[in-house]
Amino acid sequence: MMVAKLSISELLCKQRDFFQTGKTKPVDFRLQMLKNLKKTILEHKKAILKALAADLHKPVFESYITEIVTLKEIDYAIKNLRRWTKPRKVRVPLELFPYSGRIQAEPLGVVLIISPWNYPFHLLISPLVGAIAAGNCAVLKPSEFAPYTSGLIANLIEKTFEPAYIAVVEGGVETSQTLLAEKFDYIFFTGGNAVGKIVMAAAAKHLTPVTLELGGKSPCLVDTEIDVEKTARRICWGKFINAGQTCIAPDYLLVNKNIKNSLLDSIKKCLLEFYGEHPANSPDYARIIHQNHFDRLVKFLQDGEILIGGEINRDELYISPTVIDKVSWEAPIMQEEIFGPILPVIEYTDIAEAIAKINSRPKPLALYLFSDNKNLQQYVLQSTSSGGVCLNDTLIQSGVPSLPFGGVGDSGIGSYHGKASFDTFSHYKSVVQNSFWLDLKWRYPPYEGKLSFLKRLIG
Ligand code: NAD
Repeated sequence: MMVAKLSISELLCKQRDFFQTGKTKPVDFRLQMLKNLKKTILEHKKAILKALAADLHKPVFESYITEIVTLKEIDYAIKNLRRWTKPRKVRVPLELFPYSGRIQAEPLGVVLIISPWNYPFHLLISPLVGAIAAGNCAVLKPSEFAPYTSGLIANLIEKTFEPAYIAVVEGGVETSQTLLAEKFDYIFFTGGNAVGKIVMAAAAKHLTPVTLELGGKSPCLVDTEIDVEKTARRICWGKFINAGQTCIAPDYLLVNKNIKNSLLDSIKKCLLEFYGEHPANSPDYARIIHQNHFDRLVKFLQDGEILIGGEINRDELYISPTVIDKVSWEAPIMQEEIFGPILPVIEYTDIAEAIAKINSRPKPLALYLFSDNKNLQQYVLQSTSSGGVCLNDTLIQSGVPSLPFGGVGDSGIGSYHGKASFDTFSHYKSVVQNSFWLDLKWRYPPYEGKLSFLKRLIG
């Protein structure tokens, strides 16, 4: 496995040496590198959009809102970096006078970022922004299933940074495993739970800390106190953007029995409005990434009664936006993350039962609740656990830079975005400082006669 004629271990040696020079640490250097990254993205926007269309048939609008939007992350980091890197003074107890204390962020070293195929640009470059801002060197491993974007990113990164600072290693599982056998100072992984476990086990061998951005089944609860039309629109947008291949897409609908029919009618109208009679001809609808994933999804179509959609075309990796009703909790589609344009619907009569069902399953990455009822909102917030929550909308939680984004339990470990990205790739070093003008002797031996003072201090 070679990167610009370097083996992976040679590349790592070079990065470690580069990090040791201290060049990545000055804030001015980090700012300049962020600006260089931004410039490269701006200059190659067209090529990025083209690669995303080639990999996923991504509509340009969706590529802008979910991938090119990484530019905003860069701007946010540039704007705030000086503040983030400033050592933070802390209070020191009076008895430790005249010490002072502070917390100082320092980079971790050489970090590895592994990304999936569904947002193949954003999910690799967004963590990189945090890694650069925090002053690290980085090795990036894009997904082999989005080959056009992977190749383009490799090219752009090579043009922008020297490999001893930031490099891309392209390849599949084997490459990923070769990388994971090496010792990194941090591993940032985005992908599925099964691979997340492999990554964590490999990291444990070197005591390397990890962030795991995983997936899961994110429930979408719909109560009766809603604006039905707006609810339908927001659910359809969040579910069918990128043909449902979004880690925080509403995975399934859990809808109050009394509003179910009118919500489903609205969803039907909304899908017609979004994609027309034949979504296959819509320029605004993406495709499934590859045939294995397509075949996996198509099996789910048998798990209930198809209410909307259900059209497929294997040659074109097309599955129309689909809603299926009469799905049981035991059906295969309810046992794993769907990650495609199929929305199962389950009705509830008692919200407590619906919540008990959610709580009996692994903790999801996102939880959606549509309800204007403040008490219900509080109840759901307090009685469930998920990576994030979005009330009366979908997906938006991932676009707010001041909100850390990440999972809990089975949906992941750690978080990023905005300042959380800087924190993730930093070590917060505690520093305490004394001076020479005073040296109180009460702590030094001989201790005779000093215990009563200590007792008064400690209790
Ligand atoms: P994946 O776990 O199959 O692959 C992710 C990365 O791991 C790829 O780069 C791949 O090459 C590598 N990999 C695959 N098998 C490996 C192995 N055995 N050993 C080492 N590395 C290996 O995930 P995917 O199919 O690309 O993406 C879909 C999953 O990612 C979904 O579960 C989705 O929810 C999740 N996801 C999570 C987020 C998030 O932010 N939390 C975002 C997007 C996707």
